[in-house]
Amino acid sequence: MEERRRRLVEDLKDSIEGELRVDRAAVAAYSTDASLYEIEPLAVAFPRRTRDVEVLAAYSADNNIPLIARGAGSGIAGGAIGSGIVIDFSRHMNQIVSISEDRVRVQPGVVRERLNEQLREHGRYFAPDPSNGRITTVGGMLGVDGAGSHAVRVGSARDHVETIECVLSGGQRLELGRELLAGRDTNSDAVSLNRDSAVILSESPQSDSLRLSTMTATTRRTLLLQQLEQILRENDQLIRELQPPLLRNSCGYRLRGILQDNKIDVGRMLVGSEGTLGLFTEATLFTTPLPRNRSAAILMFGSLEGAIQAMQLILPLEPSACDLLDRRLLSLGRGADRRFHDIILPDAEAGLIIEFSGLNEREVLQRLDDMQRLLNDRRIDFQLTRQASSYDDVELLWALPGKVVSLLASLKGNSRPLPFVEDVAVPPERLAEFLPVAQRVFQRHEVTATLYAHAASGQLHFRPIMPIPSRGDATVMEAIARDLYRKVRDFGGTISGEHGDGLSRTAFIRTQYGALYRVFQQIKEVFDPQKLMNPDKTISNDPSLTVRYLRRTRPMADEVTGVQSTPLLPVMQLAWTVEEATDAAVRCNGCGTCRTQVSPQRMCPFVEENGDEEVSPRAKANVVRNSLCTNSVQELLAQDDTSRLLASCFNCKQCQLDCPSEVNIPHLLIEARAQHVQAHGLSNTAWLLSRVHTYAKMASRVSFVTNRLLNNSIFRRILQRILGISAKRRLPRFTRTLFLESQRVLRNQNSGAPGSNKPTVVYFVDYFANHHDPELGEAFVRVLEHNGYRVFIPPGQTVSGMAMFSNGDLAGARTLAEQNIRELIEPAREGYAIVCTEPTAALCLTQEYPMLVRNDDAGIIAQQTTDAGSFLADLHRRGLLKRDFSPLPMRVAFHTPCHVKALRNGTPMLELLALIPELKVLTIEKGCTGMAGTFGIAAANFQKSIEIGAGLIREMQTVDANIGVTDCSSCRMQMEQAATIPTIHPIKLLALSYGLMPRLSERLKSRPGGLVMS
Ligand SMILES: Cc1cc2nc3c(=O)[nH]c(=O)nc-3n(C[C@H](O)[C@H](O)[C@H](O)COP(=O)(O)OP(=O)(O)OC[C@H]3O[C@@H](n4cnc5c(N)ncnc54)[C@H](O)[C@@H]3O)c2cc1C
Ligand code: SF4
Ligand code: SF4
Repeated sequence: MEERRRRLVEDLKDSIEGELRVDRAAVAAYSTDASLYEIEPLAVAFPRRTRDVEVLAAYSADNNIPLIARGAGSGIAGGAIGSGIVIDFSRHMNQIVSISEDRVRVQPGVVRERLNEQLREHGRYFAPDPSNGRITTVGGMLGVDGAGSHAVRVGSARDHVETIECVLSGGQRLELGRELLAGRDTNSDAVSLNRDSAVILSESPQSDSLRLSTMTATTRRTLLLQQLEQILRENDQLIRELQPPLLRNSCGYRLRGILQDNKIDVGRMLVGSEGTLGLFTEATLFTTPLPRNRSAAILMFGSLEGAIQAMQLILPLEPSACDLLDRRLLSLGRGADRRFHDIILPDAEAGLIIEFSGLNEREVLQRLDDMQRLLNDRRIDFQLTRQASSYDDVELLWALPGKVVSLLASLKGNSRPLPFVEDVAVPPERLAEFLPVAQRVFQRHEVTATLYAHAASGQLHFRPIMPIPSRGDATVMEAIARDLYRKVRDFGGTISGEHGDGLSRTAFIRTQYGALYRVFQQIKEVFDPQKLMNPDKTISNDPSLTVRYLRRTRPMADEVTGVQSTPLLPVMQLAWTVEEATDAAVRCNGCGTCRTQVSPQRMCPFVEENGDEEVSPRAKANVVRNSLCTNSVQELLAQDDTSRLLASCFNCKQCQLDCPSEVNIPHLLIEARAQHVQAHGLSNTAWLLSRVHTYAKMASRVSFVTNRLLNNSIFRRILQRILGISAKRRLPRFTRTLFLESQRVLRNQNSGAPGSNKPTVVYFVDYFANHHDPELGEAFVRVLEHNGYRVFIPPGQTVSGMAMFSNGDLAGARTLAEQNIRELIEPAREGYAIVCTEPTAALCLTQEYPMLVRNDDAGIIAQQTTDAGSFLADLHRRGLLKRDFSPLPMRVAFHTPCHVKALRNGTPMLELLALIPELKVLTIEKGCTGMAGTFGIAAANFQKSIEIGAGLIREMQTVDANIGVTDCSSCRMQMEQAATIPTIHPIKLLALSYGLMPRLSERLKSRPGGLVMS
């Protein structure tokens, strides 16, 4: 394998403009998609232009190497993985080429939602609406004939395609649409073609050889159309008989209706071919005017049967969409999003979302009324909990299915709703009859299945709840599929409605279509005689495909003895077992939510910057899972590319918030980094920066000198050369007296002993307030005392150790954690709250210490710890916070740190600042600042940190505000990096407004400048 990879790179590196990757990290990242499967590719290619794709297709044909087209890899059936070269179109070939009145020309990698953002400006959109439109690429939608809730009104991807530019096996590029056949003689082998819509785009040099790659595009087109026409004419009857005229059907190749008199709609036929006939490099799509005059409603039912009965009555009213959600989906939606809380009744067993469209608003409202009247007349027991007619309100209702489908994977326990029979469709009028039959199949196999249905188009998404299968133990999956698909066929339905066949269903196409399968084989032969385009999808002779390539979800067993081999990581660095770490990694189902750049959430800063799959949280989970299950961590860690992957995470934890499965990517990466550190040691800079507290004490003693030196560019250049601390980073000034050495801490009254009738709070100070901002410590203590608290500041506490933890220096971090646990455990046992002004410290004590030190003490401390904002906001919510704030007439620019978000207590500081009269708070929503503790201080990361934080840095330079405000010291550094206004901790504003520290008003005037902060 390695030799083949080496040769591949050698052969192709100078022939394509894009990149070609064969390293362990890349192939592991691309070995899965959103399906249950895993196949390691030979290589991953990122073409920059169509020419690259032509070269790859010619090379593939000459060297017998399979090609697998890939968009976002969000396909559920396993269509975007394979053993050859995976071609990722999403990285570079993602442009909108042109927009005209009613059409758009796109490259395949463009994300559906990005396309629609652009089209919206023209009052139009690309109408097929898969629920994951923020993730899926147009190429992927064309690959599987994607569709969504509104398929009954707007159709699927194939209904919106004019032409597709397609690179065939061999490298010929053809533009294919509705091809006109002129002078046809059906009895003759030679069909002459009028290529009025057939533009010959590329001409490969002709040679005498019979190799596919030597054929010209003209010859290839002529042959292709001749053979296609012949196949379609000869099998016309068979196609009509065996390919059901369903609204939704992406099983096999679409042949029905493709040949019409003297035309073949090749473009339409290519849609849904899952990359098995050719590689789409551009497409011209029809756009549709934005929907107007829509009205939607959500209905709740006490039983699934009631909802099915209602659905059956509603379908003849011709709704433009009618989706059915079962109890599990509804309760997931209710729990996940406050906006759905009121519209989903807690005891609902099923729900329907129905939409009507019409010529005007009156008509659509009338249609909704008619529907309700009908249901009432038939005595259906339902409750309409929300009706919507404005664009935003209707979209909100449709956001519900999108949200809950991804959340299905978050169901806790060993069993998950598995997607392998998740795409059947039957004629809509037979849906009510089919559902109990399907339920009986599941009962027979003793499983329950979740149900989500696009009822109006007969599409049913079942997911049986079963233990996650691993290679070799999943025959029950095949049995369920076989039984269910038999019933589907009896009902005149299809086994793949909109997700395609992939590895899940290809083995069943033969049974679905009988003799028609032979025709599919002929079609494949015409386009791809060497069977190199996405092999084993749609066309395959492997009867066990459904279970052959299931993902590895456990450490590998010895192939000969069947005994579990030595675990990959003999000594886990965090406090978890190999199995626990593997389970954490296996929770990633590959949905791709974490790779979207069109997200309302704050997402992984590394993905946000360039959208690369290899730095996505999904790729990270994949690489770690792969190495855990194949016992190959050492091999993996030895590679440079893996180090790059490890470097693309700084433990900000945003992925965990966004991920529907809440995969613990940060700890998986910390584990991998710790293994790396164990094997290779820490870099000098990481070692020094994570131990800054040890020499900061000395720097403080001579702060007058230190602070001058920090602002001296020559000294800073020396510092950069020796210690790797960026010479360009504005650094904080050192304080002369550390907070933990101040009278406030050293005096006798600072005691944790009970004895006062005031409630007691323990203050955990951490590095920044202690060495650079003791005023913050003082302000916090005064705010608490003002509110009737006694504050105990354990004098023996040290820094939290988050810098060491994030750098993978777990031995160092553990020593600090143990010291802090010793200091904090007694007051924690007394039940005192431990409060941190640094959100990162709160996160470290609550989430990282239990992973460093597995004992009860770490757990008790985690339970008692909170951040200052949450503590005070909670007091406020309970009416216990004093409100004697004086006005602060100024404007402040507020940034919420990632670690505050990770604490999952909302934005408490914003709530508190809102209490200060005349304070105008402008919130900055520019994502992660890119500082991430010591990350942005290191010279090696400085540029990356600035790039990630660019939006925020710009905002701080231009915002019309007197100061910046944030509770994270690290974010504060980035906010002051290029700003002319200072940034301060919000607690100081509270103290100032309470009138507790008037001198703080001076801080508002100090300015960052040169190489030091304000
Ligand atoms: C949570 C979730 C919800 C979903 N909801 C829906 C839904 O509502 N409706 C729906 O239809 N699907 C849905 N899907 C399935 C999936 O997202 C769609 O099938 C999607 O269209 C795939 O797009 P992609 O860019 O991820 O393609 P990929 O998964 O990368 O590829 C899909 C197929 O298309 C082929 N392909 C990709 N690019 C090209 C190209 N340039 N040329 C030729 N072939 C190509 C691939 O080889 C593969 O066979 C959902 C998936 C998830 C995880
Ligand atoms: S990490 Fe989460 S969001 Fe990303 S692909 Fe995996 S499950 Fe989906
Ligand atoms: S912790 Fe942050 S940097 Fe790391 S993968 Fe998650 S979002 Fe990306």
